[in-house]
Amino acid sequence: MKNSAYIALGTNIGKREDYLRFALTAIQDQHMVINDYSSIYETDPVGYEEQDRFLNMVINVHTNLPPFDLLKVLQNIELESGRERKIRWGPRTLDLDILLFNHENIETERLIVPHSRMTERAFVLVPLAEIDQNLQIPAETKPISLLLDELQDREGVRIWKRRSGEDVFVLFEN
Ligand code: ATP
Ligand code: CA
Ligand code: CA
Repeated sequence: MKNSAYIALGTNIGKREDYLRFALTAIQDQHMVINDYSSIYETDPVGYEEQDRFLNMVINVHTNLPPFDLLKVLQNIELESGRERKIRWGPRTLDLDILLFNHENIETERLIVPHSRMTERAFVLVPLAEIDQNLQIPAETKPISLLLDELQDREGVRIWKRRSGEDVFVLFEN
């Protein structure tokens, strides 16, 4: 599989863990192999604060899908989870954002990669750095560790279930 993509997962409605598990299963069923994954974090909402806490994690997938097809597949999974768009940055069953796609810079109306707001979000950078703290973000001179040091809201990101074993689904076992 020729492409490597980092995807951020977020959920803050209902049985949040079930939505993460649903997403990972759907992703593996649709032309992607999960190559690496972070722990699951519980995070305080950012942007719109009158809502419940999120579960967030980041995964690295290998895929032959080109970027726009990948976006389409991820958006379909969001819709299948019952996602509705009402409030910007508001509550959602599932949010699946493409953070990085190989080392590409993509700037279109529908898709911007690297994700525009990723470097200001501790709920993205903490799990991403857990997977690879030396990861190079295209057009970004600072390493992830330094970007993270500069963020104010790191204390709003707490480990909820630590990455434990070989298989991502081990994360969901009690
Ligand atoms: P944010 O983008 O700030 O994280 P959000 O995830 O709540 O906010 P959405 O409503 O899920 O925003 O998505 C809005 C639009 O963002 C989507 O319709 C999609 O076309 C566009 N988009 C642009 N770049 C990306 C990306 N890298 N990953 C996912 N969606 C993207
Ligand atoms: Ca998002
Ligand atoms: Ca999104």
